[in-house]
Amino acid sequence: MGRIPQHFIDELIARTDIVELIGARVPLKKSGREYKACCPFHAEKTPSFWVSPDKQFYHCFGCGKHGTALGFLMDHDHMAFPEAVEELAMRLGLEVPHEGGIDRSAQRADEPLYELMARVARFYTEQLARDSRAREYLAKRGLTAATCEQFAVGYAPDSWNELLRRFGASDAERKRLTDAGLIIERERGAGREGERHYDRFRDRVMFPIRDARGRVIAFGGRVIDAGEPKYLNSPETVLFHKGRELYGLYETRRARRSLDRLVVVEGYMDAVSLHQAGVDYTVATLGTATTPEHFRRIFRLVPAVVFAFDGDRAGRAAAWRALQQALPEAREGREIRFLFLPQGQDPDSLIRAEGRAAFEERLALAVPLSEYLVQELSEQADLRSADGRARFAEQARPLFARVPEGVYRELLLERLAQVVGLSAARLEALWSTGKAEAPAAPAPARPATNTRPARGAGRGSLVRQAIVRLLHFPAIALEVTAAERAGLDGSEEPGVALLRELLDDLRAQPAQLPAQVIQRWVGHKDGESLQKLLGREEVITGAAAAAEELRAALLKLADQAAGRRLEALEAKSRAGSLAADEVQEFQRLIESLSHRDAHGG
Ligand SMILES: [Zn+2]
Repeated sequence: MGRIPQHFIDELIARTDIVELIGARVPLKKSGREYKACCPFHAEKTPSFWVSPDKQFYHCFGCGKHGTALGFLMDHDHMAFPEAVEELAMRLGLEVPHEGGIDRSAQRADEPLYELMARVARFYTEQLARDSRAREYLAKRGLTAATCEQFAVGYAPDSWNELLRRFGASDAERKRLTDAGLIIERERGAGREGERHYDRFRDRVMFPIRDARGRVIAFGGRVIDAGEPKYLNSPETVLFHKGRELYGLYETRRARRSLDRLVVVEGYMDAVSLHQAGVDYTVATLGTATTPEHFRRIFRLVPAVVFAFDGDRAGRAAAWRALQQALPEAREGREIRFLFLPQGQDPDSLIRAEGRAAFEERLALAVPLSEYLVQELSEQADLRSADGRARFAEQARPLFARVPEGVYRELLLERLAQVVGLSAARLEALWSTGKAEAPAAPAPARPATNTRPARGAGRGSLVRQAIVRLLHFPAIALEVTAAERAGLDGSEEPGVALLRELLDDLRAQPAQLPAQVIQRWVGHKDGESLQKLLGREEVITGAAAAAEELRAALLKLADQAAGRRLEALEAKSRAGSLAADEVQEFQRLIESLSHRDAHGG
């Protein structure tokens, strides 16, 4: 894998909001200028986990865990470094650059396909501009021109080979069109006008499906008049895995800087109309049940999700499948709810009939996962009879087994026990007797509690004061003069080597944020010490004061070093063994110190 350039990691750290990132996983409470929570890394009842928006850094005073946004993804989500970089880049819509390496060639292999998809999407939008029938259809469906532009809606002309003709002149091009799922190869002998291929999408309104970075990876096409199938999607290709993608996620991230929940619907028309009506935090699954991968993507972004399903039988079936997939993801701090629309309505028709406010009221009243579970199972069993309650318990058992350990699981157990008419302990005991089936889902990994961080060497020393100021305001390194820096060379204070290295690094490669510095030093032998120093509470009033204090500390360190050198030279002088250059040095030192004293330095 090629190296990820430092400037890119700096940029990720600078542009990621660590409060939003951690807030999507851990319920944070604002406290002064910072945010606090019960630590996700160790068990505790009173919060000692702090997230600082100023430092873009988190720190737990209980177990000592600390780090940047990248570190959090690695520790909390158990991502490897490149994966965490990829994740932050995805959130920001950036592409990870690599310096050389094999990754590049792998990316390049897909590049012509992405490029082709982009060109085809443009072709479809041009065709829409030319086709009044398709435009009238969209207008009739209530989509404005602005919405069509936002979602890059287009039109695939009513032709068997228009796309083929324009984009498939050579064998290589036709292969690419096939790989992208845009044309289909005829069965042998079924040739028409000698062509072996034909266009997949014909006479359809086209919705490009974009990945989180906004690249077109597939299309969804809807018929304009009657016709089957009503909706046609691209097949699975190297670019498109429908179980992973959420339609509208890119547009949602562009529409809203901060997100606290997502609405998940089934169709792209539903997603587009909800966005247009102002519910611009809606995504759609693409003709597939909600997958664990979908949940992972959702909960990386937000702590709350509402599924909005049609009020018909197919809608209820889809909701029940979503519930089953949701159970392993249920835990405290997350909210999973279900909205069932009135019979015969879908989100598109409902929002057009009722408007945003009424729809959001419905969202607010959506049924929590636990209640939906109880409702659905109750319908299948007569709870007035002992038999019915036993049946309920039996059906709830494998579902409950999928919920990970934790507070949420305990609450759900209590709720189910209440329905059955037993105590929670009794129900659990009953369930655990025939424990052959349904192993519980693995509990979220929780590392053993660490010891409190050791106090940094030289706490309160000049070296420490200087390092802490550089960490909080890395840019002040540039205000240190060459002479001030040189003054450190003679110092032998504990930790001064680290101070020198930090100062030199920041002068050669300036940084703006504490977290950028921390991230650069991960893996360095002193990286941990720096993180601990940054994690401590410090009273530093601002960059200007920090720069002053830094220079004062450097000056004092230089003085100390000079004083010590002077003593050594004096001793030598008394012994009469000063070399010629040492005599000069002796005089220089005396001069510089007296000069400084005269200025009150
Ligand atoms: Zn902790």
